[in-house]
Amino acid sequence: MGLFFFVSSCGEVQKVFITDKDIVFEQGSPIPGNGKMDDCEVKQYYIPDTNNMDHTPMRYVRVNFHYFIHPKDLHPMNEDLAIQFTNEILKTSNYKLSLNAKMNLPVGNKTPVIPIRYRYVLAGENENDNGIYVHLTEEDEMAYYNNTGKKKNMFSQDVFKRYGVRKNEVLNIFFFSHPPDSINAKKKYNMKSQGVGFNYFVKMGLPIKEFIQKGSDGLIKMHAASQAGLLNHEIGHSLGLAHTWNSEDGCEDTPKHPNCWNRTKSPPCNIAASNNMMDYNATKAALTPCQISKVMYNMATDRRSQRNLLDPRWCNFDPSKFIRIAPYEVVEWKSSRDLEGDIIIEEGAELHISCTVSMPKGAKIVVKPGGILNIKGGMITNLCGDRWEGVLLYKNKKQKGTVIVSNDGSLQNMVHKVDYLPTE
Ligand SMILES: [Zn+2]
Repeated sequence: MGLFFFVSSCGEVQKVFITDKDIVFEQGSPIPGNGKMDDCEVKQYYIPDTNNMDHTPMRYVRVNFHYFIHPKDLHPMNEDLAIQFTNEILKTSNYKLSLNAKMNLPVGNKTPVIPIRYRYVLAGENENDNGIYVHLTEEDEMAYYNNTGKKKNMFSQDVFKRYGVRKNEVLNIFFFSHPPDSINAKKKYNMKSQGVGFNYFVKMGLPIKEFIQKGSDGLIKMHAASQAGLLNHEIGHSLGLAHTWNSEDGCEDTPKHPNCWNRTKSPPCNIAASNNMMDYNATKAALTPCQISKVMYNMATDRRSQRNLLDPRWCNFDPSKFIRIAPYEVVEWKSSRDLEGDIIIEEGAELHISCTVSMPKGAKIVVKPGGILNIKGGMITNLCGDRWEGVLLYKNKKQKGTVIVSNDGSLQNMVHKVDYLPTE
C-alpha cells in the first residue's frame, strides 16, 4: 500500500540534462569592476559553514620531509628513525589541527571556534617514494641550522635549491640540528627549537639530540610530537599567515599582546597567555575564523603557492562526497570551492552560486522538481582539464527543477553542454 501511494502522488519523474531552453536568464544587478567576480575575494566568505561542513571539502597540503646525516652529528639519525620521526610529528600536527582550540585572548572573548579544513599528506615522487629523505653531507651549511654569527644560514634558500623535491607542488620540510660547534662551545647560541616558513619550504632548527635519545636499554626514545605546534606555526607562514602579537596580520580577532609563553604569577603574563598558532607560546593550538578564512582563500585562488601545494582531490569523482541541499533550504556560496562529488538540490531547495565551483569528471548537479540552481555571476566548471557531466533536471507532472543564470554566470566544460551567450 505504501509503495502504491508514493507512486501515485509523485507521478513519474523524468530526468533530462538541461539545454538552453531550460535556462532562465535574469537581469542581475551590475557587478562592479567590469563583471569580474570581485566579491569572491572577500575572505570572510571563505570561513567554513559550520552548519554544512561538507560544503567545504577538506584540503590536503602535500608535504615531504628532509633530514641530514653529517659526521659531526651528536644524534643517531638514520632512515628508520627519519620515518619514525616523520610519522610522529605528522600525526600530531594533523591531530592538533583537528582539535582547533578556543582562543585565550582577548580575555572573555566570544570568538567562534571553526574547524580547520586542511591537513598534511606525505607526497613522494612516485609510488616507491615515501617523501622522506635522508641526505648524507659533510657540509656544515647544509646539515645545520645556524641562527647567529657569520655562519647564519636560517634564511638561506640554498638547501631547498639543492635538495628540494617537487619544488613547486610539495611543501619541503627540512629538519636541522643546531651546529655541534655552537652547542659544545656553550657560547651565546639559542638552541631552542625555531623555524622559518617560506612559500614552498619550511626550515626547522631543533636540538634533535634531545628528541632522539638512546636509552640505557639501547632503545630509542622519540619526542618528535612535542615539535608539532612549531611545525604548524611554520607551515602557517607558508600558508599565508603572519604573527599576530606584534604585527598587522589583517585579522581583527587576533589581538596584540605581550606574547607570553605561558601564564605566570607576575605581570604582564598573569592574566592569560596566548594560545594562537601564530604567536610564540607553549600550545600554539588555536586559529581564529579570520586566520582560517585567509588560508582557505589562498587555497582557492588560482596561481597562489598555497593552491599549488594541494593534493587535487577535486579532480577525482568520489560518489560518497555528494552535497545535498535539503528540501526548502536556501544556501548561498559566495566563495570559490572545489567539489569531489555530485550536488543534489532537493524539492523547494535553492543553491545560489556567485563564484567558481569546480566539479570533477563524472559528477553532475541534480535539480529536483521545485528546486532552484541560481548561478549569480558564478561559474560552474571543471578545473582539471576534464568535463563534468552537466545539470540533470528532474520533472514530474506538476513541476520541474529550475536553472537561473544572471550577472554573466556560466556553465562550462560539461559533457551535456549548453550553448548560450552569457547576458550582457
Ligand atoms: Zn613565526
